[in-house]
Amino acid sequence: MTEKIYPVAVIGGGSAGIMATLRCVLNNDEVLLFPGSPKDKKKSRALWVRKIENMPAHFNYKRGIEEPNLETIKWIESSEFASKFHYQKNLGITSIQKNAHGLFVLTDSKGASYLSKNVILCTGVMDVQPEIKGSIETIFDYANAQTVDYCLRCDGHHTLGKKTAIIGHGNGAAWVAIMLYERYKQPEMTILTHGKPAEFSEDTKKLLELYKIRVLENTITEIQGEDKGKNLKGFVLDDGNIIQAEMSFVSLGMIIYNELAKELQVDLDDRGFVKTDESGLTSVEGLYVAGDLRANAKKQIYTAWDHAVNSADAINQKLRSEARQQTLSNL
Ligand SMILES: Cc1cc2nc3c(=O)[nH]c(=O)nc-3n(C[C@H](O)[C@H](O)[C@H](O)COP(=O)(O)OP(=O)(O)OC[C@H]3O[C@@H](n4cnc5c(N)ncnc54)[C@H](O)[C@@H]3O)c2cc1C
Repeated sequence: MTEKIYPVAVIGGGSAGIMATLRCVLNNDEVLLFPGSPKDKKKSRALWVRKIENMPAHFNYKRGIEEPNLETIKWIESSEFASKFHYQKNLGITSIQKNAHGLFVLTDSKGASYLSKNVILCTGVMDVQPEIKGSIETIFDYANAQTVDYCLRCDGHHTLGKKTAIIGHGNGAAWVAIMLYERYKQPEMTILTHGKPAEFSEDTKKLLELYKIRVLENTITEIQGEDKGKNLKGFVLDDGNIIQAEMSFVSLGMIIYNELAKELQVDLDDRGFVKTDESGLTSVEGLYVAGDLRANAKKQIYTAWDHAVNSADAINQKLRSEARQQTLSNL
């Protein structure tokens, strides 16, 4: 184990993790960044995000999180703060514990250990994918081409003027259909519950009826489209019917990457998101959470950024206060 004690370790290299790192470095605090192993990255939202149209100045990136994040890392490495930045490229954290001195002991994906006073945990979430004929891969071309989307606030506008299908069976899926219809008045809106019984409340059902939103409980057997998913045509159902759709959304819930938080026994909400105060501080002293993993927050890049800044600044305030006390006691 290395003996050095880092003031801050950031776990995760997506929207929240890179903003947390940037803010810590600009605050002149030494920071240890674990962006995740290739396996961690592959299952993150950060990797799957393509074009971003709901944030100013991001329109030209093909990978709207990965590309600006890499630019940021390069800038830090070439800046006057480079010596404060300890980049553990391609490494994830597999275990986190607190020792008898109240320090976090982090173990990386290669088995090395590190000590840190504070941790900003930014491991995010992932959207649940539908299995079509036993595989989630059927949808990947369409997800890459963004004819299958996941985030209403990010990509809902893609449905303007397009026949749209929502894949999901919960009340949340029905509300995605209702909100999209109320905003964009698509020529056709269908909910495909993909073989599951619809679990919609009575009020929701009334609205679906009012807006003529179809609900079909058949199983999807095939996706029809061309040009590597860029041109979605529709969904083939197990009764042979083809539901035409040029755009679609998946609304099946989220996989929450809270394993490290659970290891420290932090308070979670009933869905598994980590409960925090405004600064991102969890029920464990020194452990902050930023980004999609945090409870009661919009799952967006700009909210992840805001969380990250709040956490980095709260840590900086603590570190400055400790240093101030030390200076005063030495007088
Ligand atoms: C298809 C899609 C499109 C979207 N489009 C937009 C959009 O246009 N605008 C918008 O505002 N939002 C968009 N979002 C939402 C946005 O992606 C998230 O809100 C944002 O990425 C959350 O940031 P995060 O840092 O919490 O998580 P992520 O950005 O997903 O980052 C998680 C990070 O944690 C790392 N990690 C995981 N486990 C470990 C571990 N054990 N150790 C170390 N690292 C680990 C991963 O490698 C990754 O770097 C979209 C989401 C999806 C799925």
